[in-house]
Amino acid sequence: MKEVLLYNTALRDKVPFKPAKTEVGMYCCGPTVYNYAHIGNMRTYVFEDILKRMLCMAGYTVKHVVNITDVGHLTSDGDTGDDKMEKGAAREGKSVWDIANHYTEAFMSNIKDLNILDADFWPKATDHIQEMIDMVQDLMNKGFTYTTADGIYFDTSKFPQYVDFARIDLENLQGGNRVDMGEKKSKTDFALWKFSPKDEQRAMEWESPWGIGFPGWHIECSAMSLKYLGQPLEIHCGGIDHVPIHHTNEIAQVEAATGQKYCNTWVHGEFLVMDNGKMSKSSGSFITVDTLKELKIDPLAFRLFCFSSHYRKQLTFSVENVEASAVSLSNLRKLVQKECSESGSTDSAAVETILEEFYTSVLNDMNMPLAMGWLWTMLRDHSISAEVKRSAVEKAETILALDLFRVEIEQELIIDGVKFVNAEGKSESELKEIVSVISERKAARAAKDWAKADLMRDKINSLGISVADSADGTSVCTF
Ligand code: AMP
Ligand code: ZN
Repeated sequence: MKEVLLYNTALRDKVPFKPAKTEVGMYCCGPTVYNYAHIGNMRTYVFEDILKRMLCMAGYTVKHVVNITDVGHLTSDGDTGDDKMEKGAAREGKSVWDIANHYTEAFMSNIKDLNILDADFWPKATDHIQEMIDMVQDLMNKGFTYTTADGIYFDTSKFPQYVDFARIDLENLQGGNRVDMGEKKSKTDFALWKFSPKDEQRAMEWESPWGIGFPGWHIECSAMSLKYLGQPLEIHCGGIDHVPIHHTNEIAQVEAATGQKYCNTWVHGEFLVMDNGKMSKSSGSFITVDTLKELKIDPLAFRLFCFSSHYRKQLTFSVENVEASAVSLSNLRKLVQKECSESGSTDSAAVETILEEFYTSVLNDMNMPLAMGWLWTMLRDHSISAEVKRSAVEKAETILALDLFRVEIEQELIIDGVKFVNAEGKSESELKEIVSVISERKAARAAKDWAKADLMRDKINSLGISVADSADGTSVCTF
């Protein structure tokens, strides 16, 4: 077993990971399937994939659970607002169930595109309503709840440790902005179960001992993680936004209901941001994996882009930044093609020695920028044999999953009878200008206008390209 260092949000510290068993339960908050996942969401699933792969590389087996939130929890982090699933259904003129199926499938295809390993379980919230009802009942029996006209709430004043995880300054929070509290006693109290409005039938609602209604958002992850992974859970992950509300509420309800610690290690990833602020689903302006494909960007270039920053640091997205990662990925694959032999080395000790720096970087709280630095240096190191390089890349790929052995086919680009070589990165207008100079030169030569033909040749030279005429009459332009 290799030693793993992980930053545990609960401790605000990077500490050796010491699970009770070699089979590690890992629960990741999954997508709310009322719209496509944006690439900010996907950054979180990429870092969680690295965490899982790293634990496997260290010698653990990972039981990985990602929930599908197909119940429409409310649009705000509070307990008011519209139902996201119903909003999605109204937007597209479909049923909430069709919306959930469509966006779940789209999410699964994003997961494949990014080489993210399949979870062992993808439980749907709508299949676990009974488990949620049971947990709410347990909390009621133990006196942690109160009932208002619109639902059953968790009474955070009964759980003084509530503030610990997110280090909440309760006095400041209570005195802060006024929010719509309804009948809530404290800003931190949250809904466990909401009653359906009496005069309206909701698209998603269930019978419960307290009447027809639907579960609060936070209870979903707690009920499903306990069902599939037991207690204490070894690792719980998500984006950094979940620390102050969602995960804080999860800890409160599970520890209040069971009297035992909920989870040992909490791992949170920082946000992918846009130049103009955070990328969010509800704003509607977001970029998806499919947007990248439409731009002819390999989704794995986005995976590589995620490795350009540590997962606990913000990463700024722009199309140009991801395009630069696409060029790096292509160059990396070409380098692998050139530097690695067809088959690996039998000298496993030599391979492990070369990999030491890589392992140290990844096992140290997933330092992917350092791991990528190692890869480039190792591939360019002439003292390492092509066989050892091959084996080292194969092992690194169990973590990186960038399809590094994929052969990059040079795109043959022909415009108006001119064939371009090494034209990657050139703009269409640049290429069209070259085509027009070459055609003018051809026309001048055909008309025996040698002065103009020479002028055009000088222009070609000044563009820093070489032009040769092939036997079939096409001009070959090399950069
Ligand atoms: P959601 O589908 O909105 O519930 O989010 C799914 C996952 O993506 C959660 O773990 C969120 O914390 C995470 N997330 C949401 N927005 C971003 C973002 N801009 N960058 C990184 N992760 C995000
Ligand atoms: Zn969750």
